[in-house]
Amino acid sequence: MKAKKHVFKAEVNKILDLMIHSLYSHKEIFLRELISNASDAIDKARYEALTDQSLAEGGEEWKIELIADKEAGTLTVRDNGIGMTRDEAVKALGTIAHSGTKEFMKLLESREVKDNPELIGQFGVGFYSAFMVADQVSVITRKAGAPADQAVLWVSDAADGAYTLEDTEKASKGTDVVLTLKEDARQYLEEWELRKIVKQYSDFIEYPVVMAVTRSAPDPEDKEKTIEETKEETLNSRKAIWLKDKSAVTAEEYKEFYKHISHDFTDPARTIHYRAEGTTEFSALLYIPAKRPFDIFYQDYKVGPALYVRRVQIMDHCEAMLPSYLRFVKGVVESSDLPLNVSREILQDNRTVTVIKKSITKKVLDTLAEMKRDDAEAYGKFYEQFGRILKEGIHHDFERRETIADLLLFESTKTEAGKKTTLAEYLERMQPEQKEIYYITGGDRASAESSPYLEVFKEKRIEVLIMTDDFDDIIITGLGAYKEKEFQSAIKGDLDLGEGNKEEQKKEFGDLLELMQAELKGLVAEVRISGRLKDSAVCLVAGEHDLDPKMVKMFQAMGQEVPKGERVLEINPNHELIARMQQLFSADRASAQLKEYTGLLYDQALLLEGDKPRDPVAFARALSKLMAEGVSAG
Ligand code: ADP
Repeated sequence: MKAKKHVFKAEVNKILDLMIHSLYSHKEIFLRELISNASDAIDKARYEALTDQSLAEGGEEWKIELIADKEAGTLTVRDNGIGMTRDEAVKALGTIAHSGTKEFMKLLESREVKDNPELIGQFGVGFYSAFMVADQVSVITRKAGAPADQAVLWVSDAADGAYTLEDTEKASKGTDVVLTLKEDARQYLEEWELRKIVKQYSDFIEYPVVMAVTRSAPDPEDKEKTIEETKEETLNSRKAIWLKDKSAVTAEEYKEFYKHISHDFTDPARTIHYRAEGTTEFSALLYIPAKRPFDIFYQDYKVGPALYVRRVQIMDHCEAMLPSYLRFVKGVVESSDLPLNVSREILQDNRTVTVIKKSITKKVLDTLAEMKRDDAEAYGKFYEQFGRILKEGIHHDFERRETIADLLLFESTKTEAGKKTTLAEYLERMQPEQKEIYYITGGDRASAESSPYLEVFKEKRIEVLIMTDDFDDIIITGLGAYKEKEFQSAIKGDLDLGEGNKEEQKKEFGDLLELMQAELKGLVAEVRISGRLKDSAVCLVAGEHDLDPKMVKMFQAMGQEVPKGERVLEINPNHELIARMQQLFSADRASAQLKEYTGLLYDQALLLEGDKPRDPVAFARALSKLMAEGVSAG
């Protein structure tokens, strides 16, 4: 059959364009990416062969071969792995399987990526990096189990946004990726160069990466002469470092292995390596990254360490082994207590898996606690990147919520801008008479600092935690208390921190409050004396158990029905305006002005909350009128 032309999806073209025209440094990483794909393909074949012996095809050794052909100017990366069908090749090599493609494209075009092409691997587009060094790439592939004449040949020179596909034959299963190297990339045909790159980037690959090496050796027949001898050599050391003793692994090796499994080029923040013995035996090598992967909030982000059973990779991400609030952790777990043919379904409630999950969860949380204690700066950096994710644990891991609460950091009215406090430190600074932990949600630091809700706190020097993540209110409400001190929102419920005796004030202003309440019927559930205001005349507060207004808006924006809750209008009995209104009330209960003011105060409270007055035009008019009156009175 003739070769058929196909066009790349738009996003692939963009990536190719980037590969060819914008990336200049570290071009050698193309080899790491291709070897990594080959290794994945062998992992899959080996796994399938566990249940289908025929796929092992004569029991040949799994391996990855590099074939440098100086005459043709081609470098081939060959594997005897799973291979691809025609449809799979179209999908895998002509599209990008990603959610969030738009953000992803933006990221790709960012300076960060342009200056650091090493980051490419992270995005799952490693194959295309071949075009950094090749004018043309051909892929000859045959799916394991398919007959020899059902192979496909995929060819592209990336020039016109297209590739061709045709049927072909291939003697063995697996994939050959053949690169026709660019003029200035011929060094990748040299033995020493390939050796160096494999050592640097692919040393941990489990399968041998082999190459035919020709050496001159003394001729055994005639000592005076030399002969050329070609031998297959393995270039990588193939160390499964997670199975080694800690003392036998260098810091450098740990880092390289991290980069290999995570495709992250930044060194990890912490490395956790241990072996558990006893009823359940396993080895775990885990990493806490220093930088948040760009796709960690995507739906298809893969959670969990790679799982090995007797050195066979069973899955590249075992989500049953790690709670999702620790999904930033990368690594490898190997256990010989699991059967080789475990499926994801079985893993979900397998006892061994539960034991391992528990153990590594504890280890990670312990490591974080240690980091917080011994290296606050590093922990602060970690928290910047992953705090938001860790915090989900409060909601999802009831058993460990106290432990996780110990790890939380918040800004507060007493921390310097940009610095954070732990809850334990907050408790230490609490005022002697203070009973609760106060917090404010729904804004940034600047808006919190000028918030009318914090007037009394400021006056009394009571520290308030400033919570800026959108779901903090839900998390904190769920947590309820920390070391027996309850959390109290500064913007919800009744507080008793104000000046004067509230009971007396209630008596004094009781009738006025009633009138205002009647005037605002249907808008607020109650008008009451405020225990939190100092300078402002009024504010609106949510009920103790209601969602805060920001959350209500967020849910509404997501199209969800949420109860609005009972709003309460609080008035400041020490404010001049309220005192005047009280005078007016004593003189004439039916005063029209009193009613008008009540409405205006309510609108003002909406404004303070970050909302709009009910009728902005009417509000502005009324305000202008009052200002004019003020001017003429003065
Ligand atoms: P990633 O490997 O991160 O998914 P790549 O762009 O490197 O991204 O590869 C895309 C896909 O192409 C792979 O997911 C795999 O399905 C397929 N593929 C690439 N190389 C091989 C290979 N040597 N054997 C089988 N499939 C391969």
